Amino acid sequence: MLHQTAPDVSVRAPHVLCEAPVETRDLQSFIEQVRAFLSENLTEDLREAGRRTTGVHSEIEASRTWHTRLYRRGWIAPSWPVEFGGTGWTSEQRFVFDQECARADAPILFAGGLRSLGPLIIALGTAQQKRRYLPPILSGDDLWCQGFSESGAGSDLAAIATRAVVKGDSYVVSGRKLWTTGAHLSNRMFALVRTMQADKPQEGITFLLIDMATPGLCVKPIVTMDGQHEFNEVVFDDVVVPQANRIGAENDGWSVAKHLMRFARTNNTTCGLLRRVWRSIERALETSGLLEPSLRTRLTALACKLATFEAQEMRLLSSGRLSGDDEAGSSLMKLSATELHQQMSEVFLELSGPLGIVAPGLAFGDHRLRDASHAVEKYLATRAASIYSGTNEIHRNVLSKALMAGKVGW
Ligand SMILES: Cc1cc2nc3c(=O)[nH]c(=O)nc-3n(C[C@H](O)[C@H](O)[C@H](O)COP(=O)(O)OP(=O)(O)OC[C@H]3O[C@@H](n4cnc5c(N)ncnc54)[C@H](O)[C@@H]3O)c2cc1C
Repeated sequence: MLHQTAPDVSVRAPHVLCEAPVETRDLQSFIEQVRAFLSENLTEDLREAGRRTTGVHSEIEASRTWHTRLYRRGWIAPSWPVEFGGTGWTSEQRFVFDQECARADAPILFAGGLRSLGPLIIALGTAQQKRRYLPPILSGDDLWCQGFSESGAGSDLAAIATRAVVKGDSYVVSGRKLWTTGAHLSNRMFALVRTMQADKPQEGITFLLIDMATPGLCVKPIVTMDGQHEFNEVVFDDVVVPQANRIGAENDGWSVAKHLMRFARTNNTTCGLLRRVWRSIERALETSGLLEPSLRTRLTALACKLATFEAQEMRLLSSGRLSGDDEAGSSLMKLSATELHQQMSEVFLELSGPLGIVAPGLAFGDHRLRDASHAVEKYLATRAASIYSGTNEIHRNVLSKALMAGKVGW
């Protein structure tokens, strides 16, 4: 990289909706309403937590505070039906809201309950489960983690071995879950357990809701190479779970989990996440001096890819293609989002130049060192994006199967 005096800030990704001419007065007034709310409620410490986010959620206290403010405003669950606490926004409004939050550096919520479990309970839960679990998800009193993966059961999830045996009106659960994001922050877990051995591994799995404070449940931290503690191993030693905490029928947990994964992948836009990395790049550009031509070319290509991704996401959202039934569509979006995320974090790291080598771990107040340290952490954390929520190889398998079966219509 050539370091010269003049900052080079001319590479910009166009905002698909936010900076394009707004087509309807309604959408324009919505944007103004959102901006006014963000300007009033996003304090500098919250924005800083948003800017410093490396993993899938921001630092937990900032995430909680932001959750509470959105909840009080009634904007915490835009994708939920209105009768359960949703906002009733159109897909355009949801997209714009995510973009505006990213543009204002809002923290990223710890949101397994909001994004995955809540929509699942709305779809498949009993009336009692809806009454009991939905309000604390909305308020942020309950934080949920996902207990699916085990050693030897990741891509091959149906190989899970954590067992649940019926005893009276409860299950007794024993085994261990691995890579459980935020288990140390959560008071509840939704989990897949084996209740029967069958010829087909997908049969005999049951979907349970587990209170993390139950005796016999132990959370063991796992620290990753970026120095962060995001995920854990969770050990179950005869943990008693009431049968009333089951979603769906016993032994039918596989279809319940498939339902949930569709929500996890499709109910939420990812443009906000990508736009946040782009903002980090823009900030780095302000102090990076003149760029090498090859880096400039890559930045321009990334700006185009980001705009294309956002346009595609908006198109799929507004046509209802991300409603959950289009498995290949959601695989395609997961693939393109995570690859773009990784490419952007690579360029962000390059922009930090030699500082990226020395900055991590240094506690200097200099903002260039802090930014460089953030670039390194972001780069390392983003390597995981092609692994979680189904690895990108598995999503490529889904796509190729759909193509061969002639099921891809976009
Ligand atoms: C940051 C992070 C957070 C996570 N959070 C959670 C969580 O909260 N809860 C949870 O339950 N899990 C979580 N996971 C686990 C995640 O779901 C698994 O890591 C993932 O499903 C892959 O499983 P595995 O690690 O066992 O790898 P494996 O399945 O062993 O895969 C190893 C490699 O083989 C490839 N491979 C495997 N099968 C095939 C195939 N059929 N075709 C082609 N290639 C194949 C994979 O793509 C991968 O490259 C998290 C993972 C990460 C990285």
